[in-house]
Amino acid sequence: MAQRAPSVRPAFRLPIAGIEPLSTVDWPDELCAVVFTQGCGWHCRYCHNPHLIPFKPNSTIRWEQVRQWLDRRKGLLDGVVFSGGEPTHHAGLAEAMKQVVELGFRVGLHTGGPQPKVLEPLLPLLDWVGFDVKAPFDRYAKITGKDQGMNALLSLRRIREYGVAHEVRTTWHPALLTPGDLRRIAETLAELQVEEWVIQRFRPNGCEDPEIRAIPPGDPPIEQLDSFGIPITLRN
Ligand code: SF4
Repeated sequence: MAQRAPSVRPAFRLPIAGIEPLSTVDWPDELCAVVFTQGCGWHCRYCHNPHLIPFKPNSTIRWEQVRQWLDRRKGLLDGVVFSGGEPTHHAGLAEAMKQVVELGFRVGLHTGGPQPKVLEPLLPLLDWVGFDVKAPFDRYAKITGKDQGMNALLSLRRIREYGVAHEVRTTWHPALLTPGDLRRIAETLAELQVEEWVIQRFRPNGCEDPEIRAIPPGDPPIEQLDSFGIPITLRN
């Protein structure tokens, strides 16, 4: 009897910092697992996962372990979300996503879009993207420490053009964004014909910046954004 050849999987590196085995909040209306990758090129002052910012090439969790675990979760999860950190900094992301598709799960991604050239070939693998718009696209350095808003804008354009389902969201903190900043973001999103914009209030948990933590976020002035015609959801 012919022997079945073992499936050969290409070697790749994806630094994994942790897994959330079951989440109902990281992908709207989906029961998902979340894979957190290690490393982010930005330093947002409100970051609630600052331990995921440093790049560490070696992680204690190997992708093969995750894949085997997911194999046992078939039928119990709808999808897998890659989050971070910033997953698109890692060349191994595409292969990990392909394997998630092969296992029969839907694939989601949380990204701020710093790497449009990495994101573009991932789009056919993706069922949903949670896209963070940090600031007006010409003011990214103020929030992220890097002047990469044009990368983010290009990434968002690619997502819109490709047509993958997505959610556009912005974190509101009054010390980091002004009402004028929100209006300028709204102007660009209206030009891109974004169907919905989620504005989430800053949450202090995890944030390591005492100055930012000390200021209550309050309510963003969403009434000033009515004229842009984008439905806005306010999220805590
Ligand atoms: S992009 Fe996300 S992970 Fe990176 S520093 Fe900003 S909030 Fe933290």
